[in-house]
Amino acid sequence: MATAAPADLGFNFEHTYTQLPTTFYSDATPARISAPKAVVVNHRLADELGLNTDSADSDALSQLFGGQQVPENARPIAQAYAGHQFGGFTMLGDGRAILLGEQRTPSGDLVDIQFKGSGQTAYSRRGDGRAALGPMLREYIISEAMHGLGIPTTRSLAVILTGDPVYRETIQRGAVLTRTAASHIRVGTFQYAAALQRPEALKALADYAIQRHDPDVASADQPYLAFLRRVIERQAELIARWQMVGFIHGVMNTDNVSICGETIDYGPCAFMDKYHYETVFSSIDHGGRYAYGQQPLIGQWNLARFAETLIPLIHDVQDTAIEMAMELLQQYPDLFEGHWLTGMGHKIGLSAATESDRPLIEDLMSWMQSTESDFTQTFTALTTGQHTELMQSDEQFRQWHKKWQRRIEEQQEPGEVRSARMRSVNPFLIPRNHRVEAALVSADTGDLNPLNNLVAGASDPYSDRQEFADLREPPPPDSCRYRTFCGT
Ligand code: AMP
Ligand code: MG
Repeated sequence: MATAAPADLGFNFEHTYTQLPTTFYSDATPARISAPKAVVVNHRLADELGLNTDSADSDALSQLFGGQQVPENARPIAQAYAGHQFGGFTMLGDGRAILLGEQRTPSGDLVDIQFKGSGQTAYSRRGDGRAALGPMLREYIISEAMHGLGIPTTRSLAVILTGDPVYRETIQRGAVLTRTAASHIRVGTFQYAAALQRPEALKALADYAIQRHDPDVASADQPYLAFLRRVIERQAELIARWQMVGFIHGVMNTDNVSICGETIDYGPCAFMDKYHYETVFSSIDHGGRYAYGQQPLIGQWNLARFAETLIPLIHDVQDTAIEMAMELLQQYPDLFEGHWLTGMGHKIGLSAATESDRPLIEDLMSWMQSTESDFTQTFTALTTGQHTELMQSDEQFRQWHKKWQRRIEEQQEPGEVRSARMRSVNPFLIPRNHRVEAALVSADTGDLNPLNNLVAGASDPYSDRQEFADLREPPPPDSCRYRTFCGT
């Protein structure tokens, strides 16, 4: 079979980002690697991007997604940004990521295609620019699962083994992840622009981001305020969606907050099994800054950092600008709570939960917490009516259930309508930590079946598919407490 050269796969790059002042990026070249070998290629995503990966053989795909044969019309760059990491401000940038360009897709969208782990860039500081196989496959699994859940996210197109070692706490196998994003503009990109103290650079970035993500606000009376409002709205909704599936990002630093409202930078993230408000997985998050229950608040903190960067663009008089930005920021809690209430209401079948339904939702959550109930399973049990043994035997739950039934009856709607609503927001399947770990262990030994099976199941999590029933099960009760590591 003839092998299509990468250039023929359908790359249709634009390079709008390079129209920004050059301070925002540096040219970059993917590093030479010893033995590129494709581990996974997401043909379905490739198809959406207009890339015909089916026509290429594994070797050509390995060369391409390993960064060894850069498509002709690519223009590899690393992006500059800054960020508050666990509260402290630092200048950063893509230390191990290289943007190939923005793919114009058949449906007209502009999508960043970026390598992660493809070697050093101008922003690598002391880092090696590399990535290890485990964390890159982890990002692949979890980002594709997020997409399956319908939650805005960057996506994963391929993972390639480099054939070179990477040195972390242990020696690991190097890998390159190709990820896609509506853009990689972060709150940290704006912080970088603000720190430059060059008003024209800041304005160029803001105008670029508006053109790319919110072109309609360009003609608003106050475009930068309108843009701020959009970013606030997207974060409020995104974090509410995380809360609804028990997702814990783990490193909500401002450089990991995307302006377009996608979940980005999967590091020590995880979905919780047993419900607990204070759940933390990241081994480096000692203070619980990014615990499950903290995420909504941290979202607001990050947005405040974003708003600060826009002050010079909002109004010539600083105090006036601050007042205007504050007014929008103060709307975030209500925006978040609105999404949360509606979303959690849907999870228990309410068509339009109001403030008066909050106790019903919160009572269920405290029951889950005190009984160490599984988050996902509790909601699917409510959806299917197949209650767990604990639910059947627990008096407190039975009391709650009575109240719930009464509330449901008030809606006077057919059971199927309620059931469909619940099914649309209560996944049967999340990528459970013990399954993710098992898939990574197998992949490391060359067996990709568990990984492919997990990704297949997680791609359609709301369907009641018996063939994936084993993936739904919580971890055995004696499994040790799960920790994720940032040594990515
Ligand atoms: P992260 O915690 O993955 O969001 O990364 C924080 C910053 O460190 C980003 O600017 C990364 O590009 C950079 N970084 C992380 N790992 C490496 C590495 N191995 N080499 C160079 N830079 C890195
Ligand atoms: Mg990051």
